[in-house]
Amino acid sequence: MEIFNDVKPEVTGEFRFGCEISKWKDWKWQLKNSVKSVDAFERLMGIEIPTEEKALMEKTIERFPMSVTPYYLSLIDSANYKNDPVFKQSFANINELTVLKTDMKDPLSEDTDSPVEGITHRYPDRVLFHVSNICSMYCRHCTRKRKVGDVDSIPNKAQLLKGIEYIRNTPQVRDVLLSGGDPLMLSDSYLDWLLSEITAIPHVQVVRIGTRMPVVLPYRITNDLIDVLKKYHPLWINTHFNHPREITSSSREALAKLANAGFPLGNQSVLLADVNDCPRIMKELVHKLVQNRVRPYYLYQCDLSEGLAHFRTPVGKGIEIMESLIGHTSGFAVPTYVIDAPGGGGKIPAMPNYIISWSTNKVVLRNYEGVITTYTEPENYAAKFCDRNCKDCNLDLKLDEPDEQKGIGIEKLLSDYSNTISLIPDDNERYNRRDNDV
Ligand SMILES: *Cc1c(COP(=O)(O)O)cnc(C)c1O
Repeated sequence: MEIFNDVKPEVTGEFRFGCEISKWKDWKWQLKNSVKSVDAFERLMGIEIPTEEKALMEKTIERFPMSVTPYYLSLIDSANYKNDPVFKQSFANINELTVLKTDMKDPLSEDTDSPVEGITHRYPDRVLFHVSNICSMYCRHCTRKRKVGDVDSIPNKAQLLKGIEYIRNTPQVRDVLLSGGDPLMLSDSYLDWLLSEITAIPHVQVVRIGTRMPVVLPYRITNDLIDVLKKYHPLWINTHFNHPREITSSSREALAKLANAGFPLGNQSVLLADVNDCPRIMKELVHKLVQNRVRPYYLYQCDLSEGLAHFRTPVGKGIEIMESLIGHTSGFAVPTYVIDAPGGGGKIPAMPNYIISWSTNKVVLRNYEGVITTYTEPENYAAKFCDRNCKDCNLDLKLDEPDEQKGIGIEKLLSDYSNTISLIPDDNERYNRRDNDV
């Protein structure tokens, strides 16, 4: 920490605290010099936090550790740090110790839907693979907050091989998402090994990496890293920008490197009270993202994890933001707003309502301007009966995999090949009475 001297930041936006540029841009230096205490924050920012407030922050850090890269710290406006979106995402707040009755340790049941350690298998054809439990910056709003503060460790090869083995033995898995922690906390050579193992599995068609490095430590995106990742196309990368202020010249450079190397880039934001719960902020963010070739992918409603109550907004705020984006700006700049279902139901999209009414041959719709319009439906549409035997249908899809998965859920209700007419909850009393009668 000695290099920081006593230089006080005078401007926001990547002020380097008097640090030499070569050190500053070295991601390992950034990690080594991450700010983990309130004292270090005060010293670097030239701010004195009132004693009482400081004590509360420190109490919170005992429970949920703090770690902020000097780079991310440099984005904080020291003159107004309390309202700063970067500060709020990265600095401990006493509210994190408040646990509501409705909060949950593992709201998405990730640990329950885990067939082997490290894997969450929720959807039919894809898995989440936790390959690291450390991050370069601990987001205060982390949905996996329960794990923050566990012993920092990257699973060893034997542990990772268990996950790889599960994927290899589960032919439905065509998409593997590396998550964590941050997968880019792994060394280049370890990532190389991991990706070579996963992509060698014949049924794995795509791999995705979820990482916040472009936001909190853009110098992690080195040319060497790119050289490793490039070997494993198609590789999709999703990052996590929450506020336009996070898009800086350094993060732009990192994104450009990734985009130039051909990785499709997506962004997953979390809707956070007093950070980005504003249609203007979100519009500015999505515009900056697409200018940097990042497609806004998801906007998440903040999960019901313990200690996040102060970050949550009503769902109506998300709908209001979507209302301000859809139609008002480029379609590819609009993320899908989702609520990750408590209990592990997965992501559920939530949208403003656009269909106002329906008759047998007309749909009444409204657009983003409030214009109400009608769409007349075709008169002579011949429904195609589908028993999944393509010979009976003139669309004649020639599938190379005959044992395509059968539909589930609503898809099954809509299908012709299944006799299912309703989906009934396990504990439906009326149905359970019928069973007893038999
Ligand atoms: C989000 C998530 C996925 C991926 O979902 P997509 O909608 O395909 O991006 C997969 N598994 C789990 C457990 C997830 O939470």
